[in-house]
Amino acid sequence: MSPSLITVSYLASAALFILALGGLSNNDTARRGNMFGIVGMIIALLITIGAFVSGNYTVLVFIMVVGGLIGFVLSRRVQMTQMPELVAILHSLVGLAAVLIGFANFMDPSISYTGVEKTIHEIEVYIGICIGALTFTGSVVAYGKLSGMIGGQPMMLPARHWLNLAMFIAVVVIAVKFVGAEHEQALLLLLAMTVIALLFGIHMVAAIGGADMPVVISMLNSYSGWAAAATGFMLSNDLLIVTGALVGSSGAILSYIMCRAMNRHFISVIAGGFGTSSGSSAGAAIEGEVQTIDPQALAQLLNKAKEVMVVPGYGMATAQAQHAIADITKTLIKKGVNVRFGIHPVAGRMPGHMNVLLAEAKVPYDIVFEMDEINDDFPDVDVSIVVGANDTVNPLAQEDAESPIAGMPVLEVWKGNTTVVLKRGMAAGYAGVDNPLFVKENTRMLFGDARDSLEALAQAL
Ligand code: NDP
Repeated sequence: MSPSLITVSYLASAALFILALGGLSNNDTARRGNMFGIVGMIIALLITIGAFVSGNYTVLVFIMVVGGLIGFVLSRRVQMTQMPELVAILHSLVGLAAVLIGFANFMDPSISYTGVEKTIHEIEVYIGICIGALTFTGSVVAYGKLSGMIGGQPMMLPARHWLNLAMFIAVVVIAVKFVGAEHEQALLLLLAMTVIALLFGIHMVAAIGGADMPVVISMLNSYSGWAAAATGFMLSNDLLIVTGALVGSSGAILSYIMCRAMNRHFISVIAGGFGTSSGSSAGAAIEGEVQTIDPQALAQLLNKAKEVMVVPGYGMATAQAQHAIADITKTLIKKGVNVRFGIHPVAGRMPGHMNVLLAEAKVPYDIVFEMDEINDDFPDVDVSIVVGANDTVNPLAQEDAESPIAGMPVLEVWKGNTTVVLKRGMAAGYAGVDNPLFVKENTRMLFGDARDSLEALAQAL
């Protein structure tokens, strides 16, 4: 294949990936963005295979068919609520691929550089394997935490910051010895660094408290991009470098947005400082009386309301209650009620989780607002319907400096006239913190599965 055709195709793919990212930043254009991404990826695959693969076609086709089938079946089967776990485990595969390619590249006898080129190549291999290894184990632990296989509580080893520092220093020292070492000794050093990076990935994510997981997810997203970019350098593949850099930098921007949404400093989250200092409040029982409401009484409240705010959370996703709330919204709008949705940036279990569900249920975009856009409006709201949200509406974030969620901006639903919370019981949210909202004077609890409750409400309306 001619080098210019490769270059042009790679440029086209890179442009399509940039258009994909641009498209994905907005609900209206997200579908088109996805399409750009798919076309870009097909071009990238075909050209890479055509240009660089010169044999072993049977193995290649076999592996692509098996991998493609697994991906296809997984994506058909996965529930919307399992998407965050799926994303985490896919990040781990990018990390694992970077490690395996790094070792294969290092041991490939046909690659023989000398002088500066050799040093640069060794550094590329070292960095690629290092980022890949910590992305791999970090993502596996994140998967465990998101799927509930591992508890959300942070793992607090004594002197954990020193442990992190010691691992970092060890990786740097090994790097210095690795560059220019004899092949066999270099391989041993590479293996030693890989073990440290694998442990570092486990420790880094295990030490992060539940409420700070959104930052970790976006950070691992970013790492997987840098791991791919490093692999691109190892393989001298320009498109992989560009694509990795796009994923790496967009993940880094997302991490920044998530940190801002949670009022955290990036470094503090990575160091595992938050979600961890949890003093008494995480376990402290909330005092006060719970007042319940049934769907009929809620329907009466809504019939009198002019301003209604719906605040969805993770419970809406597990209950798959988005269609029921969309139907109720339609009914209320027909009755002349101003219905709006208030979305917390970390509601659910992945960035944009609620927006995706509401879009699926065809809730018009123009009534769906970000937290910052509507948080000051709660005093004018007649009824707020909290559908399976908990941490994101917890007043303790503002009231208790010792709480694991202290400082995180929350939707101030309690400032409205009446707040109705739909959940099954009094369980805490993802961060494991009790919620005094449930016993506030103007709060009513509608216990039960959110979808059942909303369907009963729709009937009553
Ligand atoms: P939470 O996870 O805090 O709470 C969800 C609530 O939904 C639970 O208290 C649960 O209570 C209720 N619930 C569960 N199933 C149902 C059901 N079938 N019907 C009705 N209610 C149900 O939700 P939020 O969205 O408010 O907060 C998200 C949390 O997740 C934050 O702490 C955030 O940091 C974290 N996180 C977010 C990520 C992201 O990127 N968005 C990623 C990882 C973590 P009960 O059991 O009593 O019904």
